[in-house]
Amino acid sequence: MPLQNISKILQHWYHENKRELPWRDIADPYRIWISEIILQQTRVVQGMSYYLRFVERFPDVISLAKADEDEVLKYWQGLGYYSRARNLHKTAQIIAKTYNGIFPKNHSDILQLKGIGEYTAAAISSFAYNQPYAVVDGNVFRVLSRIYGIETPIDSNVGKKKFTLLAQTILDKKEPANHNQAIMEFGALQCVPAQPICDACPLKAICKAFSLNLVDKLPIKATKTKVRERFFNYFYIEFENKIFIQKRTEKDIWQNLYELPLLESEITFEATEIADNEIFKNIKELEISSSTPTFKHILSHQRIFARFFTVRISNKNEFLNHLLEIKKEELDNFAVSRLTSLFLEKNR
Ligand code: SF4
Repeated sequence: MPLQNISKILQHWYHENKRELPWRDIADPYRIWISEIILQQTRVVQGMSYYLRFVERFPDVISLAKADEDEVLKYWQGLGYYSRARNLHKTAQIIAKTYNGIFPKNHSDILQLKGIGEYTAAAISSFAYNQPYAVVDGNVFRVLSRIYGIETPIDSNVGKKKFTLLAQTILDKKEPANHNQAIMEFGALQCVPAQPICDACPLKAICKAFSLNLVDKLPIKATKTKVRERFFNYFYIEFENKIFIQKRTEKDIWQNLYELPLLESEITFEATEIADNEIFKNIKELEISSSTPTFKHILSHQRIFARFFTVRISNKNEFLNHLLEIKKEELDNFAVSRLTSLFLEKNR
């Protein structure tokens, strides 16, 4: 089948089946950018409310650039992968300064921006400006590997080059926005990872994976994600009507978010070990009022085992000076990780 026909079939399917989404059929590069960054690691259903709240509070580059990073992170709270929000904020400031707040139009200028890789640059260039750049995301890898029966691992350098070239070759250069939307939506709704709807697929007759019975084998990934296990002991320290929090400034998960005082260890602590710990040394009256069971919190590359200890103290020591002392009701002003917010929701 001629290559253009595959694109036409996908676009026809898209026209009949596409979901109505708030970032669809708009040409505002700022909003397209925000939606693409949110959707990178988030499902559409979850991302929708975040997108709507985000663009309502920060409707354009300038409003985002002028905002405080803590506020931007607060609007991102619960979405995970917080470097996305930090990069959005920094990039908005760069666009405000370098481009007078007007989103650049040139593909190579877009690609230079922090947090914008090949995929996002192609999405913005095609959706906002109808420029002929093919998107290659997880959906596109899957759809192409199946239709063409490609067994090259999608996470290898050779695979990435091969799929990028193929995606660009089959791109409808006259309708790049429609084409890109179509192939991604097709991957999201029809040619899904498990149990794709092959019986009712308009490409069934030419799909190599279908005819060779390779549908559940493709795409192929060469490497397995390594998962690191970590053990977090959090302390909800109550002093009069106050508690203590800290900002995670290290280059690590949840950078620049706030959290309760944390001790990371080889295993999670037992309640009996707390009084001996550095943080609580020299505190005369210390009452460990409760501790949670161990929570298992799964991130893409890490598995966190966390316990929360509620501790009441009636005097402070210098260790606590390094922490931020706040009133309990002020906690809502700080962006925290999903793990911390799960604990706080139940225990305040
Ligand atoms: S036949 Fe199945 S595997 Fe092939 S493109 Fe259609 S949905 Fe995907």
